Amino acid sequence: MNEEQIALFTIFGGTGDLARRKLYPSLFRLYRKGFLKNKFAVIGTARREWTDDYYREVITTSIDALSPTEEEALAFSSHFYYQAHNVMDSAHYHSLKELADELDEKYQLEGNRLFYLAMAPNFFGTIVDHLKSEQIIDTRGYSRLIIEKPFGSSFESAQQLNEQIRAVFNEEQIFRIDHYLGKEMIQNISAVRFGNYIFESLWNNHYIDNIQVTLAEDLGVEDRGGYYDKSGALKDMIQNHILQVVALLAMEVPNTFSEKTIREEKIKALKAVRIYSEEEALENFVRGQYVSNTFNGKDIISYREETNVAPDSRTETFVAGKLVIDNFRWKGVPFYIRTGKQLTTKAARINVVFKPSPVNIFNPEDVCKTLPQNILTIYIQPTEGFSLTLNGKEVGPGFHLDPVKLDYRNTAEIIENSPEAYEKLVLDALKGDATNFTHWDEVSQSWRIVDVIRQAWDKEEGDIPTYKAGTMGPAEAFDLIKRENDDWVWKPDEWYRERDLLK
Ligand code: NAD
Repeated sequence: MNEEQIALFTIFGGTGDLARRKLYPSLFRLYRKGFLKNKFAVIGTARREWTDDYYREVITTSIDALSPTEEEALAFSSHFYYQAHNVMDSAHYHSLKELADELDEKYQLEGNRLFYLAMAPNFFGTIVDHLKSEQIIDTRGYSRLIIEKPFGSSFESAQQLNEQIRAVFNEEQIFRIDHYLGKEMIQNISAVRFGNYIFESLWNNHYIDNIQVTLAEDLGVEDRGGYYDKSGALKDMIQNHILQVVALLAMEVPNTFSEKTIREEKIKALKAVRIYSEEEALENFVRGQYVSNTFNGKDIISYREETNVAPDSRTETFVAGKLVIDNFRWKGVPFYIRTGKQLTTKAARINVVFKPSPVNIFNPEDVCKTLPQNILTIYIQPTEGFSLTLNGKEVGPGFHLDPVKLDYRNTAEIIENSPEAYEKLVLDALKGDATNFTHWDEVSQSWRIVDVIRQAWDKEEGDIPTYKAGTMGPAEAFDLIKRENDDWVWKPDEWYRERDLLK
């Protein structure tokens, strides 16, 4: 049974891209499933002067792709209210409180309030200060804050931001979104590890050779050039999504599967990730920026030619690196990570590469010529599932081994019907479950890990390495892994190269 949740949402940045593309459709899905029924209301605030009617039209348009009936759309959007609001203006909070109290009574919301900050982080401090000073959070129910990434732009700025927020909300009330943690297969990492003893008993440096995490995007910066050019792939992807995935892969087995125990184990894992010196950072991390190319018949422009990107930009659109985890379990097992824009294809996947058999008894001439390694692959998107590559005997005379793949993928139908990441996370926040959100200790440790890399790169002069759009990154990313006598398992670009569709 889907238990009805009772709350007032206040969405700061209610006219923005995130609210329209992600939040409103997610709220509608929760509504359709009965998690939200009659006892909920939404106040959208932003600078624009919209009326409730206009706002409701926007809501209706934003859920269009979910094909609601006319009555459904009407009933759902009737819970939405708009208030023009400049977050810097104290008087506006006064009217916000009045509206909130009025809706609380009208919809019997029991004083439960969720504040969603879908705005630039430089406004967060002002907003939370006012929520307190104007007594908007003085209710008999709960008050929770949902915050979007990026949480700061370095350890120092994140700490400042955290202090501002913590002056008003305690850690249990803060839900820092990392939408990757809402993805089905990310949550499945724990299922694969802890639900299958065959894997967990091999999940250490005795049997695992290396682990590879790839989050690849096949688009450029689109219309977010202004934001991206100041951020870059290291801060945009590694600090949050990739390090969260690494923490889930590397953590110890929690005693029980609960928010608190998982968080504790993830924090311990992140604390074991070696913080490099600047010199080590340059050795173990490489960056790149995409340049124009013709890929699969399509002309792609260079990063520097994108709108709102500086023509001499040195911002990285690709990062690859080797992380080292200094603990009993992982000593000697490199975690290779890579992410980038304008790569061959959009996909996220994890490859766990097991050690080869110590000797190859099938090759008496040279028993040291190792067999292909077993690989467990976790597919996160666009397909979801896992595969295990094993060596089997090729059918026929003689004794030749061939890799065979046991492959399980969720069907398109399951994927279609599975809750979207934002939907799951909003529901978790309504229920007060912070398992899939990032705790301050995780955020701060992640910044400590990436800050050194950033500082090392910022001291370098001259152009940064480039890669042709449509490829899987600069040559340096391949050299990095080859230097360790390893190789990237996943090479989607090869298919296109073999067909002359990619240079
Ligand atoms: P956006 O620019 O589309 O929207 C920003 C919103 O803030 C608008 O509603 C605008 O009216 C409002 N706003 C700006 N200044 C204001 C002020 N002084 N007073 C009141 N309202 C003001 O941005 P977005 O893409 O929706 O992103 C919002 C936040 O979410 C950002 O921090 C972004 O980094 C983060 N984020 C966005 C996405 C995405 O897919 N769009 C993904 C992850 C994180």
